[in-house]
Amino acid sequence: MAGVIRRLDEAVVNRIAAGEVIQRPANAIKEMIENCLDAKSTSIQVVVKEGGLKFIQVQDNGCGIRKEDLDIVCERFTTSKLQKFEDLASISTYGFRGEALASISHVAHVTVTTKTADAKCAFRATYSDGKIKAPPKPCAGNQGTQITVEDLFYNVNTRRKALKNPNEEYAKILEVVSRYAIHNSGISFSVKKQGDTVSDVRTLSNASTVDNIRAIFGNAVSRELIEVGCEDADLAFKMKGYITNANYSVKKCIFLLFINHRLVESAAMRKAIETVYAAYLPKSTHPFLYLSLEIAPQNVDVNVHPTKHEVHFLHEDNILERVQQHVESKLLGSNSSRMYFTQTLLPGADCSSNEVVKSAVNSSVVTKGSSDKVYAHQMVRTDSREQKLDAFLQPVNNPLSAGTTEVTAEVDAGPPKGAERPQDAEMEEVSDLVEMVDVQEDAVQPESGHLSPETVPSRKRPREDMDVELEKDDTRQDMTAACTPRRRIINLTSVLTLQEEISNQAHAKLQEMLREHSFVGCVSPQWALAQYQTKLYLLNTTKLSKELFYQILIYDFANFGVLRLSEPAPLYELSMLALEDPESGWTEEDGPKEGLAEYIVEFLKKKTEMLKDYFSLEIDEEGNLTGLPLLIDNYVPPLEGLPMFILRLATEVNWDEEKECFESLSKELAMFYSIRKQYIIEETNPTNSQSEESESGSTTWKWTVEHVLYKAFRTHLLPPKHFAEDGNILQLANLPDLYKVFERC
Ligand code: ADP
Ligand code: MG
Repeated sequence: MAGVIRRLDEAVVNRIAAGEVIQRPANAIKEMIENCLDAKSTSIQVVVKEGGLKFIQVQDNGCGIRKEDLDIVCERFTTSKLQKFEDLASISTYGFRGEALASISHVAHVTVTTKTADAKCAFRATYSDGKIKAPPKPCAGNQGTQITVEDLFYNVNTRRKALKNPNEEYAKILEVVSRYAIHNSGISFSVKKQGDTVSDVRTLSNASTVDNIRAIFGNAVSRELIEVGCEDADLAFKMKGYITNANYSVKKCIFLLFINHRLVESAAMRKAIETVYAAYLPKSTHPFLYLSLEIAPQNVDVNVHPTKHEVHFLHEDNILERVQQHVESKLLGSNSSRMYFTQTLLPGADCSSNEVVKSAVNSSVVTKGSSDKVYAHQMVRTDSREQKLDAFLQPVNNPLSAGTTEVTAEVDAGPPKGAERPQDAEMEEVSDLVEMVDVQEDAVQPESGHLSPETVPSRKRPREDMDVELEKDDTRQDMTAACTPRRRIINLTSVLTLQEEISNQAHAKLQEMLREHSFVGCVSPQWALAQYQTKLYLLNTTKLSKELFYQILIYDFANFGVLRLSEPAPLYELSMLALEDPESGWTEEDGPKEGLAEYIVEFLKKKTEMLKDYFSLEIDEEGNLTGLPLLIDNYVPPLEGLPMFILRLATEVNWDEEKECFESLSKELAMFYSIRKQYIIEETNPTNSQSEESESGSTTWKWTVEHVLYKAFRTHLLPPKHFAEDGNILQLANLPDLYKVFERC
């Protein structure tokens, strides 16, 4: 029996069509938000009841709808946005087909209240099945449009039954609005349930995209964001957005994709990007992504069905590949940018990472009970006390200098600082010393090396009473005592003040880090890497060594051994060399160099007694430099810096005030002694593996940095506080973070 074909009633047709466009409350809200955006609103407020099934209200402050248009606004295919089909190619609004309001009005009761800028008052009208029910009524209202949708699907039984869970619908609504909010920074959005005072999503009109991501997805996401952006003229596309770095991962991928400002889905794009992340994130975890693509309109078909979120576009594969490459490069780059993020995370600083790394200095030390489980990524597998074999293979050459001057060390006053000496011997010597000074008081047992402030006699004596005093040591019987027969006790107020200044500035946590570090390697003459607990640090060897030498000069004031130059170095020649150097800043106005050099020699000759006595800087009667202070064993300053040192000694030191003089002189000496890259010849041919073994310049400076300087940093350096802030000690990486990267391998 063949059926009879009849034309469907128009209302039925429209209701079926409407059901396709508006499948759930979130679709309706999306359409309405797009209308608000098309109307150039800067504030969009959504209120819903029962997940939008009972009631939806969307209020904006946009251009409004003219009173004359209110009659037809809910009819199908009525729009203010498109006139000719050709306009579609250049359409810049979300809407153009005039279907949304019509559809909604076929499945719900719609009320529109609206006021344009030049209308005297607002107008309100209600609609049913696309038709206005009564002429618009004037009423009070602000500029903009408020649309309420009540009893959604009241006339579509099946749909109403399918949407039973208001919470689920509300979650969808929040998702749609928050995505639009992120994509439209500069426009404020809010969503709340009717009757609630607090919004569940809220962004501000002056907030940035990142602020909005933070407001919606929280700090955990927003602080790990990397900004991305690339474009390709050939493929006619632009991309920008924010993605999380390898520090962040969640169970479910959050992917906000906008193509030409429309919220869409692209399974291909999602897969392409997730493939890149797979190499960086722990298994089955995912990133947060917000990407906004602009593709030449002729390459994307915007005339898709309103419910069709999945998009395809021309050159899809090529564009995906470009986006993939860009994301990959940004993720790689984020490893180094992390350094800047964590650079304030020095020991002692607050750890902003959400995992608290349990202290586990050695993996074996953890005995606090089973609840304190130490995970692999929290274990410290190095021991700072371990020695490397090459520590015993001291290069034969002058450790640093590539110059010709030979230097022989000679100890003629006081103890050389014990890089080579067993630590207990040194400690003993120090404690002896303290006993010697403060016999009446209880002897202070210093915990660490001779730089610890306790070893400095705290009692200040009047200057005339004690200038520099030679202490004969006839009480000590042991070998150490025999080797170091005397140490001069300095009670100059100026020196004691300088010592106090150093100890007041000390950063306890940094000191602990230096004491317990494991040396990793030299990056360059200026920079080296060291590990402390689960963290990797980059240290400025130049600045640290300069500080080390300054502190030794102040704490061991007048107690240095002598590095005797095998050939006396004439001060005149040194001064001339320095003046030739453009770094000296010499100009014609300063007079002839020869005259200056002569003056320098005469000037320094007047100071020889003091220089020798306090600083072991020896100058003979002919004006030759013959000895330099021995500050730490096995260390000879890079002698290329000697000419400039001599020039600065005569010109930069404040010779008038005692304290300033000692301070500035020590600073100049310290600078000369420090490892400075301009005076270190770096290995020129790194491919020649044999040069590693030979006594090339490079092996020797590296050896010295590791086994002399960093060894001395452990016990002899009180790192000043500013090292924690000025980038001279930087935290590069933390093991737990690295684990996230390597877990996949
Ligand atoms: P479209 O957006 O495709 O034009 P709609 O059915 O969504 O179709 O809207 C029909 C018309 O109603 C729009 O063209 C616009 O002129 C008007 N309109 C709808 N919502 C608003 C609003 N919030 N502010 C101003 N005008 C609006
Ligand atoms: Mg629209």
